[in-house]
Amino acid sequence: QLYGAQRRNSAGIDLANEHTLAQLLHIWTDPAAHAWQAGPMLAPGGPEPGAAQPRFNPADPRDQVGMAADATPAHCEHALQAASTFAPAWAATAPSDRAAALERAADAMQAELPRLLGLLMREAGKTAANAVAEVREAIDFLRFYAAQVRQHFDNDTHLPLGPVVCISPWNFPLAIFTGQVAAALAAGNTVLAKPAEQTPLIAAEAVRLLWQAGIPPAAVQLLPGPGETVGATLVADARVQGVLFTGSTEVARIIQRTLSERLSPRGHPIPLIAETGGQNAMIVDASALPEQVVQDAVASAFDSAGQRCSALRVLCVQDDVYDRVLAMLKGAMTEQRLGPPTRLAVDIGPVIDAEARAGIEAHIERMRQRGHAVFQAARVEGDDTRHGHFVTPTLIEIPHLGELQREVFGPVLHVLRYRRRDLPQVIEQINATGYGLTLGVHSRIDETIGHILHAVRAGNQYVNRNMVGAVVGVQPFGGEGLSGTGPKAGGPLYLYRLLAQRPGDALA
Ligand code: GLU
Repeated sequence: QLYGAQRRNSAGIDLANEHTLAQLLHIWTDPAAHAWQAGPMLAPGGPEPGAAQPRFNPADPRDQVGMAADATPAHCEHALQAASTFAPAWAATAPSDRAAALERAADAMQAELPRLLGLLMREAGKTAANAVAEVREAIDFLRFYAAQVRQHFDNDTHLPLGPVVCISPWNFPLAIFTGQVAAALAAGNTVLAKPAEQTPLIAAEAVRLLWQAGIPPAAVQLLPGPGETVGATLVADARVQGVLFTGSTEVARIIQRTLSERLSPRGHPIPLIAETGGQNAMIVDASALPEQVVQDAVASAFDSAGQRCSALRVLCVQDDVYDRVLAMLKGAMTEQRLGPPTRLAVDIGPVIDAEARAGIEAHIERMRQRGHAVFQAARVEGDDTRHGHFVTPTLIEIPHLGELQREVFGPVLHVLRYRRRDLPQVIEQINATGYGLTLGVHSRIDETIGHILHAVRAGNQYVNRNMVGAVVGVQPFGGEGLSGTGPKAGGPLYLYRLLAQRPGDALA
């Protein structure tokens, strides 16, 4: 096992098993599965939650998934006070006790997997396969950071930061939420968790499981609500000693500016771990195997409806094989099934909300008006896509990466044709985006692969395979440049950024 003795990644469940499926369908159709609740979850003594608003399924907004109430300034104040009062006690808890609680939460998540799948599918529009992968990743994060703490912190002095804020995205509303919180708790910090506005229900389930596993409520509190109000209040508060953020590069900059205005009690800058966007490319040369390129490009661009920061945005194909690859790609796209995730054969579900859909469609329209060839195809499952926020998988041919000003967070793949001798310019264009998250290379020539991997700046590089779905503890995930600050999530250095004093510091 890499990074963490005695640790295994979660096996999830087998969706191909009939009995498993029958059991899942039974749970999902249970009326109790339609009454999810979220609101501020605080240490004892806090204000009552305010009025809750209904939450709807992105695949079908007639389906009410549950009710959620936002945190008010009074909830934030109570949580901040409790997190800072409790910080010394949590920091003094034995690292092995913190690890044991996270491991119990991982076991509970494994046991609750069927219910969590149903919620992920209905609140976030995940396909069943994506939902299974997401619960597995959340479990892996809990066990991974627990193992790290047992291995490295148990017999050595370390000083946590204190109260930290975790701000997580809607695209991995359980995995990234849990990853941030688990890391912060493992390192001995108290946590104020602000889930994405779109996905408070699954975050509330995660906090319930953590509390049931024995993490004290004052160690992890949930504050749902908009970033502009709840997130901004928490980040600006002098009691907060660190921020973990996954989301847009613009918001990461705002957070960084806010944090730069104060120092920790020890006189240090307040650390920010930010994981942000990408403008990810895959480079395909003439020696690549077209069948594999097509399979991996489809998975990388359209899985999760393209709503991964790791997703492929620009496929760069050498002109000798361009027409062949493009024809096969279009054929493969017509076989992708688009529809509501409750139809288990669906490959591509909805995008998260109406605003996201409008933004993606505006981009496609703009590209069409600039004269770029646009191809759209998918097999629609029945007429079930009429009500939801669906975007048909789209391919757009572009002459230059400069055409892409912003990350388009949806099922849109740009394709660029290059001549062999222009490879250096392609690499230059990729680096010029300023981002550096993921990179794919398809080639059967070792020198070409080595050259590209060396020349393109990207945190995660994938050769002759797809470029999404980094596995905790095996492929630590995180980018360079505009894509993030590091250290990589699910990697051996992550916890160290969450400490004011690291094991071994005292010796140095
Ligand atoms: N870790 C995920 C992956 O490798 C992406 C995370 C994200 O989209 O923020 O696919």
